[in-house]
Amino acid sequence: KTEWLSKLKQVLPGETVFTDTHSRMKFSRDYFHFSPVLERELSSCVADCIVRPHTDAELDMVLSIAAEYEVPITVRGSGTGNYGQSVPMCGGIVLDMSSLDQILGIENGIMVARAGARMGRMERFARRHGWELRVYPSTFRTATIGGFVAGGSGGIGSIKWGTVWDGWVRKLKVKTVESQPRTVLVEGDEVIPYIHNYGTSGVVSELHIALAPKVEWEQWAIAFSDFILALRFGLALAHDEALPKRLVSIHEWPIPSYFSPIRLPRDRAVCLLEVGTEGAERLLKYVNEFRGDIALHIGPEAYHRGTGLSDFTWNHTTLWARKQDPNMTYLQAQFSIQTWENQIQILKSEFPDLLMHIELMKSQDVLTVSGLPLLPYKDDVHLDAVIQRCESIGVFIANPHTWRLEYGGRSPEKKKLLEVKRMNDPFGLLNPLKLNIEENAEQAV
Ligand code: FAD
Repeated sequence: KTEWLSKLKQVLPGETVFTDTHSRMKFSRDYFHFSPVLERELSSCVADCIVRPHTDAELDMVLSIAAEYEVPITVRGSGTGNYGQSVPMCGGIVLDMSSLDQILGIENGIMVARAGARMGRMERFARRHGWELRVYPSTFRTATIGGFVAGGSGGIGSIKWGTVWDGWVRKLKVKTVESQPRTVLVEGDEVIPYIHNYGTSGVVSELHIALAPKVEWEQWAIAFSDFILALRFGLALAHDEALPKRLVSIHEWPIPSYFSPIRLPRDRAVCLLEVGTEGAERLLKYVNEFRGDIALHIGPEAYHRGTGLSDFTWNHTTLWARKQDPNMTYLQAQFSIQTWENQIQILKSEFPDLLMHIELMKSQDVLTVSGLPLLPYKDDVHLDAVIQRCESIGVFIANPHTWRLEYGGRSPEKKKLLEVKRMNDPFGLLNPLKLNIEENAEQAV
C-alpha cells in the first residue's frame, strides 16, 4: 500500500491525494443510509485514499498507477447515489471526478460537458442559451452528469423524455484502467454498457448530451380528496401529449405533511406538477374535471430560484420522510399501467403503513406508473415480505436494499457489459464486487 500511495503523492500535485481520516470517511459514503440494510452492510467500507484529479493528464496518472499496482478504484461524482454505488468495497482509491467539471459548450442542441459537471450548472448554462436538460434527478444541484448516467435512472423530464437509457446520452469519452490508459470514444448503442453500470466498465471523462428547447415552467400543487383520484388526474395529464410537462408526482397523505418548507392541505393527496406556461389553461380544465383544488402555484419567474416543488419529488420524498421519521425507508416500484388501482388496493389493505408515492414517467416511450413508496423499517423479514408480495401481484421492484448491480433492478445487457469491462478494465479494478464477474461470465456464455 505504501508504495503505490507514495507514488501517487509523488507524481500528483498537492491538494489531489487525500489520506486524512475525515476525507477518507466522508468520500467513502453516499446516501445508502436511506436503506437500513445497506447502512448495516456498507458503513465500515473506507478507501485508503481519495484522489481528485484536475486535468486529464492527472487522471491518466491515477489510472496508470492503479493498473500497475492493481489497486481497486471506485469512481465518484458527488456521492448522492442511494445504493452504495460509489462506496469502495475493497478499499483502494476513491476517484473523485468533481474537479473535472468544465462545460465545453452547446452545438446543434448537444451539450458537451466533463463528467464532473454538476447538473444544476448544466441546466442554468443550457437555459441561458435557449435550451434545457431533457432529464435530471431531483439532486440536480449537486449530482454530476457522470454520476447520473452511471448510477441514476430518471427524474424531472422523464414524463416526456424517459430514462437514462432513452437516447439522450449521445456520445461518451471513456478512460481505460491500464498502465497506459486509452481514451475510448463511444456513440449510438455503444453507450449502453456505460449507462447505470455503477462505473464498472470504464471511467467516463466527457459526455455529449442531447438537450430540449427551453420552456417556461410553472409549478403547481393540486390537492385531492383521495390518492386514487389524484393518480387518475395525473394519468390524464400524462396521456395528454399536447400538455407541456416536466413533472407529475403524486403523494398519498400524510406524505405531503413531511414537506415542511411548504404548507399543503391536511388529509389530502397531492399532485406536484411542472407544466409549461402555455399549458396553464389546459391544466385548469383537468383540475376542474377531477375536482382538484389548487394548493400552490408558483410562477415561471421563481423557477429554480430557491426551493422548488421538485425538491419534494423522486427520492427527495424519502429524504423529507426520513427527517420526520428516521426509521422510514422506501421501495422502487413499477405498477401495471392496466391494473395499478387493483395492485395498490391489495397492497394498502395488507400493508396499511406502505405510503404511496408515484412518479409518472416514460420508459422507451411507454408511460409507466412508477414510484418510490415509503414504509417504516421493521426488520429484513418484513421488508422481504413486502417486496415478495409486490412481485407476486405483478408489481416490479428494483430493490434499493442491495449494493449489487445485478440485483438492484435494471442493469445493462450483461454480456455486452462484461465484454466492455474486460477490454477497459483488464485487472477488474473498477468498483470491485458491485458486479459479480464470475457468476455473470457463466450466464453470458
Ligand atoms: P455518484 O453517487 O457519485 O455515483 C453514482 C455511480 O456512478 C457510482 O457507481 C459511481 O462509481 C459512478 N460514476 C460517477 N461518476 C462516474 C464517471 N465519471 N465514470 C464512471 N462512473 C462514474 N436518482 C435518479 O436517478 N433520479 C432522481 O430523481 C434521484 N433523486 C434522488 C434524491 C435524493 C435525495 C438522493 C439522495 C438520491 C437521488 N437519486 C436520484 C440518486 C442520485 O442522486 C442520482 O442518481 C445522481 O445522479 C448521482 O449523481 P452523483 O454525481 O452523486 O453520482
